[in-house]
Amino acid sequence: MASRTAAEKWLGALTNLPTASGREHQVVAWVENWVKRRPDLRLIEDSGGNLLITRKGKKRRDPVLAVAHMDHPAFVVTEVSGQAATFQFRGGVREEYFSNARVDFVTGPAKGGRVASFDPRGRIGVIEVKGTGPEPGDIARWHVATSRPRAGRLRAPACDDLAGCAAALAALDRARERADLAHFGVLLTRAEEMGFIGAIHAAVTGSIPADARLLSIETSRASAEAPLGGGPVIRVGDAVTVFDQELTNRISRAVAGTGLRHQRKLMVGGACEATAFGVYGYVATGLCLPLGNYHNMGNLDEVEAGTGVARPMLEEVSLDDFHGLVDLLLVAADAVDDEGNLRERLDTAYSDGRRLLG
Ligand SMILES: [Zn+2]
Repeated sequence: MASRTAAEKWLGALTNLPTASGREHQVVAWVENWVKRRPDLRLIEDSGGNLLITRKGKKRRDPVLAVAHMDHPAFVVTEVSGQAATFQFRGGVREEYFSNARVDFVTGPAKGGRVASFDPRGRIGVIEVKGTGPEPGDIARWHVATSRPRAGRLRAPACDDLAGCAAALAALDRARERADLAHFGVLLTRAEEMGFIGAIHAAVTGSIPADARLLSIETSRASAEAPLGGGPVIRVGDAVTVFDQELTNRISRAVAGTGLRHQRKLMVGGACEATAFGVYGYVATGLCLPLGNYHNMGNLDEVEAGTGVARPMLEEVSLDDFHGLVDLLLVAADAVDDEGNLRERLDTAYSDGRRLLG
């Protein structure tokens, strides 16, 4: 069973791996290795490279899948000519952060360089490389000053959404101990940062069972209303849409009965895969971790206000929020089939109280 220590080890390992949309292979290899050590689990890679991890054996209930994405905003080298490496930046980061920014190559032979130009329309630009050059396909990320996190926090290059992957796997590891959670599994997707491409692929090609209930895990920009350390969030919607009403309500109701610290919020700092799954006809809702330095944008509030300097930084999550999310996933996996729904409760209240209306 996953102890907190083991879960934190997986969290630390995954959030430090090099990854980018379309270049998730190191995360895939890590997950394949993790699953290999658990013979009661089955891993299926779909035709788009998404990973579906389920428990072997008979299931008595329709599947519940915790979903997280394996990519993170990063530079991907597309062409190299001498010391100039052309890149595509795969993910959403404000233009200000690119200006003369230092980057570190985290795959391939090259070490580091500096952004010489950036065109925000195509999200393409050129890195002036120092020393040995990279190869097409290599990944670079922001050069950041490392700093010791506050107690109870994790700082890492890619909490979004590798912390989600770690939480999903930690929950699955705990579910393995329980026969009543045989229906719980994990779906890890690709290329979310470029517009949910992996999630859409999984939906349109049917690699997700039609009767699955999806718990889409994200890290989402923390705010005064949903701060770091405030607990994992039951996300009722994102910047684009609201999620499945019945599924969201059942989870909220079940969690309220457990005393588990959590928040119930609309997180509008971005969109998440639950939106895509809903559009393609799946029952889906969102769970998330408040995220500091969203997409590695340090000082973001000030930069948006035009009062601060853009400084790339490590992302940050609260460890208590992370462990709370693992607990929340297990409560949710169980609660989706609870008896009774909100309509039935309102019907009862109405029949008990209608005499008040005369
Ligand atoms: Zn993101």
